[in-house]
Amino acid sequence: TSFGFKEVPEEEKSRLVGNVFSNVASNYDLMNDLMSGGLHRLWKDRLVSELNPFPGMKHLDVAGGTGDVAFRILDRINDVKRRAMQDVREDDLQDQTQVYVCDINPRMLSVGKKRAIERGLGEEGSLIWVEGDAEALSFPDNSMDGYTIAFGIRNVTHIEKVLDEAYRYDYYSFSIIPAVGELVVGDRESYQYLVESIRKFPSQEKFASMIVDAGFQKVEYENLVGGVVAIHSGLKL
Ligand code: SAM
Repeated sequence: TSFGFKEVPEEEKSRLVGNVFSNVASNYDLMNDLMSGGLHRLWKDRLVSELNPFPGMKHLDVAGGTGDVAFRILDRINDVKRRAMQDVREDDLQDQTQVYVCDINPRMLSVGKKRAIERGLGEEGSLIWVEGDAEALSFPDNSMDGYTIAFGIRNVTHIEKVLDEAYRYDYYSFSIIPAVGELVVGDRESYQYLVESIRKFPSQEKFASMIVDAGFQKVEYENLVGGVVAIHSGLKL
């Protein structure tokens, strides 16, 4: 089969993105493993270790899908707490950690909620699932300590809007993007859209300059596997 690179009109984009992720929601995690050869796990670990989350943190993971990044953040915070437990009483370790998983697709979120229950994560209310659009988020300004968007920014229609939204909240912001992304099995139209979104996504340098334009400071990026994937970060100071 051959695929042309027909331009996809803007208003079509969200529908196509919706189709892709509704079609794949139940197989999304398996598909991720197959398509990245399991590497997405290491990339996400790396993202979270760069983020360095802390107990009591309020974090927003946008385009959070089935919760992979959020679970890692909570796991890491729990590790930090376990280590600290040797010095302090368990009562003192009660914290206000809140990790929000925001995604435009309710099917992805419901797969995520099931996975969280299976892992016994978020039972104490630290994990919150929110349906929402990265381009117009509903949280108040400066209400988060951190923001991540992993394998999601290239699915949005207006990257600048997403970055402006990111800047409203946080002190840190991190994102992980594939330069060569996943090619999802789906209907032809959605597939074609995905191929195109990968082809059109700005280079690492260009994306970094867009993050600077949104107001972030100390913007950096790290290429992984020779630049197939990159982790961009910036601080709101
Ligand atoms: N972050 C997860 C991960 O790395 O496993 C999921 C990544 S998945 C490739 C992309 C996600 O972006 C999908 O769950 C999709 O529903 C979501 N998405 C696409 N456009 C969005 C938007 N405008 N706002 C919020 N989420 C969006």
